[in-house]
Order: sequence, then structure tokens, then C-alpha cells
Amino acid sequence: MIDLRSDTVTRPSADMLAAMTSAPLGDDVYGEDPTVNALEERVAGLLGHEAGLFTVTGSLANILGVRSLVPPGGEVLCEASAHIARAELGAHAAVSGVTTRTWSASSGQIDLEQIRALIAPDLGPYFVVTSAVSVENTHNFGGGSIQHGYDVLADELDARGIPLHLDGARLWNAGVATGRPVASFASRAAAASVCLSKGLGAPVGSVLVGSVELIREARIWRKRLGAGWRQAGVLAAAGLYAVEHNVERLAEDHANARAIAEVLADAAPGSVKPDQVETNIVVADLAATGRTVAEVVAGARDAGVLIGGVGATQLRVVTHLDASAADCRTAAEILARLIG
Ligand SMILES: *Cc1c(COP(=O)(O)O)cnc(C)c1O
Repeated sequence: MIDLRSDTVTRPSADMLAAMTSAPLGDDVYGEDPTVNALEERVAGLLGHEAGLFTVTGSLANILGVRSLVPPGGEVLCEASAHIARAELGAHAAVSGVTTRTWSASSGQIDLEQIRALIAPDLGPYFVVTSAVSVENTHNFGGGSIQHGYDVLADELDARGIPLHLDGARLWNAGVATGRPVASFASRAAAASVCLSKGLGAPVGSVLVGSVELIREARIWRKRLGAGWRQAGVLAAAGLYAVEHNVERLAEDHANARAIAEVLADAAPGSVKPDQVETNIVVADLAATGRTVAEVVAGARDAGVLIGGVGATQLRVVTHLDASAADCRTAAEILARLIG
């Protein structure tokens, strides 16, 4: 099977496993796991922040990051298809008492006009207070898109004194695709999360970064939520390996995604715009093809390719380090036959 449902499906390589089995370990609840401490320090440094916190998932890093910026009863603004609004199962409300209002934009982009209209810093005792704005970069359901208005929004929020939360699950992809250091994005946010388990190929793990105080508080909340962990260095070692070895190669995933998009655009014109495929995610719209998502997903599975549906008419194809250029070519040809 060629599995292009997500970049989370990768398995640790032999070298990554070797790093995991030889990592020095300790009890992280006591702050004594040297490998966890090294990972937190390394990722915080890469992202231009004082401190980091290793978490089991990106969702947990986002829950801790948003709640550090938004008090119970406050709101965070985000794009309507953001992971924090759509794919964290209401955690920010259910766990933290945080509400959301959303703007909606093609490819999940920042829309400064809409955000300005939503921001309600203090409209009196009758309205919810905007405590933070969250941006996803790259944007998952937006098709792996890079946020082109990121710096302008960060400047505006700085001027207004409203903190930015960055869901950087795939910030590494944004860095490689733009040639910018990831710190140039993450340091603009008061709290930022990154995933190690997506394109970087670690089996588990994310890191939240922020100030020393923000991370100290997040560490308490992580424990309160039952997610303190002990010899987690066995997992942090995979993350350290991933950060050292698997970032630059994301360019290959981006080239493979673009190549898939070109094949699909030839087979079903209008289903995807290859020049809008900026990173490792291809979202193809089947509306004009006369095929349903279920049909194409099932047909692809029968032909040995796994892909996902992300909307009534949309397919998502995600490239990653366990899918070679040849695998991606084969998958593209199979999908082209199904949608053409
Ligand atoms: C995957 C992802 C996360 C975190 O997902 P987990 O499965 O909880 O690790 C957060 N944000 C975005 C945009 C993602 O794609």
C-alpha cells in the first residue's frame, strides 16, 4: 500500500530507533530526563523562544498554548477550518472554557480585514473579550498553504497588544518552502506549537514554546490534565533525531506533492491548481469531475493507494518521508485514472 492519507503515518527509521534505544533517560516529572530537556531546549532555540515543553500530541500543545493566552470565558479568533476549531473536538471550550469566533478565507489564509472586524478587545461588560488570535502555518485543511499575511498580522497584533498563537504543526514545511528560519515565524507568537510526528517522521510528540513563565504554567497544566510523563526521553530522542536529520528533506515532499498536483490537474482540469501547492499537501476538488469522494477513495484503495477525504467534494493527498518519488508518481497515475 502507498499510504498518502497523512504525514503522520511514517515509521521510525533504523537510525531513529537506534537514537531512541541509546538515549539517556530520567524521570521527566522531576525534570530529570536529559533527553527531554535537550529536546525542549533545542526546539525552543530553533523557534526563537526561551523555553519549550514536550507534549504527547500537537492538540495538547495547542490546548496548553491557547489556555496560557486566553482566560476562561475569553475568546481566541481563528480561521474557520483551523485545526484548533475543527479537529481538537472542542477541547478549548470543553477543557479551558475558551470560545472561538472565526474568519473564513480561501486556503485558510489570514484575512486582515475580517480579523480587524472581529477583534473585540473591550466592548464593555456585554461582550466576550478577544484575548488572542491563532494562526495555522502551514494550514492543513487549506492545502498546506503558507500564510502570506503572517508578518503584517503579527505587526498589527503587536500594536494592539493582542498575543498571537501559532499552530505550527507543519511550521517546518513553511520554513523549508520559504527559505526562512522557522524562528522568524515562531518568535512573532507568544506561544507556538510544532509537531515532530508529521513530516519530520518521529513516532510521537510535539513541542510548545514560549517564555519561561508561560512554559512553567503550561507544565503545571500538562500534569493537571494527566499528561506528565516519566522516561519520555525514549520518545524525545526520536524528536531530536528528526529535528537534526529530517527538516531539509521536506523539500522532496514538496516536489512530490507538486508533481502529483500537476498529474491531477491534467486529468481533471480545475480540480487542483498546482502552483498553489506550496508544501506537502494536495487538496483536490472533485465537484466538476462527476465522481464522489467515497468512490475515488475506495477505487484508490483497491488499486493500492490510501488517501483521505476532507470535505463533501475534496480529497487530501499528503506526501512524506516514507513515500518515495516513484510511489508518488504511481499514486498520481492511479488517482488520475479515477478522477479523469
Ligand atoms: C496534526 C495537527 C495538529 C496536532 O495533531 P495531533 O494529532 O494532536 O498531534 C495540530 N494542528 C495541525 C494544523 C495539525 O495538522
